[in-house]
Amino acid sequence: MKILVIGGGGREHALVWKLRQSPRVEKIWCTPGNGGIAAEAECLAIDAGDVAALVALAENIHPDLTVVGPELPLVNGLTDAFRQRNWAVVGPSQQAAQLEGSKIFSKEFLQRHGIPTAELYGAYDSPGDAYGALCAVDWPVVIKADGLCAGKGVFLAPNPDAATDFIERVMEKKELGPGGQRILLEETLEGEELSFILLTDGERYAPLVPTRDHKRVFDGNQGPNTGGMGAYSTDDLLPDDLRRTILSRIVEPTLQGLAADGIRYQGFLYIGVMLTKSGPKVLEFNCRLGDPETQAIVPRMDFDLAEVLSEAAAGRLDPSKLRWKPGASVCVVLAAGGYPGKFEKGMKIEGLTAAEQINGVKVLHAGTRRDRQSILTNGGRVLGVTATGSSLNESVATVYAAATKIHFAGMHYRKDIGTHASRSQATGD
Ligand code: AMP
Repeated sequence: MKILVIGGGGREHALVWKLRQSPRVEKIWCTPGNGGIAAEAECLAIDAGDVAALVALAENIHPDLTVVGPELPLVNGLTDAFRQRNWAVVGPSQQAAQLEGSKIFSKEFLQRHGIPTAELYGAYDSPGDAYGALCAVDWPVVIKADGLCAGKGVFLAPNPDAATDFIERVMEKKELGPGGQRILLEETLEGEELSFILLTDGERYAPLVPTRDHKRVFDGNQGPNTGGMGAYSTDDLLPDDLRRTILSRIVEPTLQGLAADGIRYQGFLYIGVMLTKSGPKVLEFNCRLGDPETQAIVPRMDFDLAEVLSEAAAGRLDPSKLRWKPGASVCVVLAAGGYPGKFEKGMKIEGLTAAEQINGVKVLHAGTRRDRQSILTNGGRVLGVTATGSSLNESVATVYAAATKIHFAGMHYRKDIGTHASRSQATGD
């Protein structure tokens, strides 16, 4: 098989790394890829959101399978263009990708199908109406820009002044671009979050192992939100009764709802769940794998990803093939100085080989580029150091032993990824 992977972050490096392990795979291209992916696939400098350029590329190279990492090509209709030409591709259609591309579409979907979620106060396309609605909400209130906003479109407003300021920046000053033309206001949910991701061929589905990510930049969930500073996976995140509840109240009604609405969903579906006192509720849908969740999921895969994905693309998913290694995995993101604010690029990265010599460690690249023999930083989230172990505690110890081997100017990372769960595991609470 020859496979084209679209994207160039840590998630795509994890996919490329796993796909390469398959004896079926002869060649992998990645657009645009990064400095680490370049060691395992042929990187081609095409923007992941440019559907026309990707169609032209595929016409040229004839991949047997295309795997889409990020949301932008999906929301831009890449899989529709590929399927029209009968090319095998993993990822939902443009219509189905609205579950992520429009928060209002996704909220209306959840309400229509009776799937538990935060209460909607209202959706607004004029700032005046949005300001007016603030007098009738409970505080804090969650404000969401409707469209894609590179992870910056959700704000938990503690009071009316903060809410007014955010609405003004998004709807009047248009600081987040066209994704902020409409907004919604919803109830704030409290609890622990869980990432529940499944693969479906439109009929059958298979859940992946559960993960939890860490969005805030500093230890103890302090500081601003980021694209994700780390993630971990352990089966303890999802006890059997919770798993049954999520499957029966959320996953199955979602897949049945899509079918009832005439939407065939094929690909990965990410369900962000809040474990509230009154049960699990949907925070958000993403129409693709999470980043950095994927970096924690892939090392636990005990199956041939190329085989499973090509079967899913052909509408022949066999859920029994998705077998998982027991134990746990952790991914810690090493970020550039200043991230998630302004940061510099081009810092030389040292210690990658020493880190990977530790048993159970894989260093996945996100924002890097190769310059002759050196690897340089090229983004805010630079590397995802990933480790597996027989327990979460063991994986956490291994991942941090590896992280301390790596260095670049300004590097910072959280020291508590996976440790909240390790503590609960240790104390049994
Ligand atoms: P979203 O882009 O919808 O995934 O939201 C990003 C993050 O905002 C989620 O992972 C949650 O941490 C938080 N969030 C979103 N909606 C709510 C809500 N209704 N209550 C509390 N937190 C929320």
